[in-house]
Amino acid sequence: MNAPQTTTAPDSRADFPGNLFVVAAPSGAGKSSLVNCLLARDPAIQLSVSFTTRAPRGQEVDGREYCFVSRDDFERRIAAGEFLEWAEVHGNLYGTSRAWLQARMQAGTDVMLEIDWQGAEQVKAQFANAVSVFVLPPSYEELEARLQRRGEDSADVIARRMVEARVETPHASSFDFIIVNHDIDHALRDLQAVVAAQRLRYAAQLRAHPEVFAALAIA
Ligand code: 5GP
Repeated sequence: MNAPQTTTAPDSRADFPGNLFVVAAPSGAGKSSLVNCLLARDPAIQLSVSFTTRAPRGQEVDGREYCFVSRDDFERRIAAGEFLEWAEVHGNLYGTSRAWLQARMQAGTDVMLEIDWQGAEQVKAQFANAVSVFVLPPSYEELEARLQRRGEDSADVIARRMVEARVETPHASSFDFIIVNHDIDHALRDLQAVVAAQRLRYAAQLRAHPEVFAALAIA
């Protein structure tokens, strides 16, 4: 099944209260560790829990890492327009709940989506103000070494992920920011810098400090 073409017009509601961050990367680049480190240090950001048709792995809990559903259920949700974006990744379907995201953003909560590049492009087309970040490994050799060290996947699966990484990585050029993940501490500082910069934008500062803008008569 192919990912949907985006038909919705770009969202120009610059006054959408919350900040929306979208992080993508090829498998093994260290995206999940990076996002988890950020969230542990920045509780003001909420991570969207995606729907997926893939089976739970290891210690994953339904409703925590993902909402695990059948393909039929997922397809019913597509038909009902429940997903802000969805895509097929590594043979499974993944999607972001439109209702969850809109409720958080309207409440002024900063939201993080950890999704693939196809989903990121769909989100950008709908929310022009979303901030997209692509995490790159230092090289394909290092990516393969990390997948092997992770020890989660068979040799076949690693070979498939490496083929997919060469397809996914060139899409980095359409993202707002690039983080090269040589080491997690440095990459975390880079991601925190992106978040901090977004929170310093005019609209975000006006939201955070309305009294200052009113006192200075610049609102
Ligand atoms: P995994 O199965 O390894 O957790 O995730 C596989 C890929 O699917 C990762 O690149 C992950 O970011 C992506 N993914 C997870 N949730 C979503 C989602 O809601 N939408 C899209 N488009 N991709 C997702």
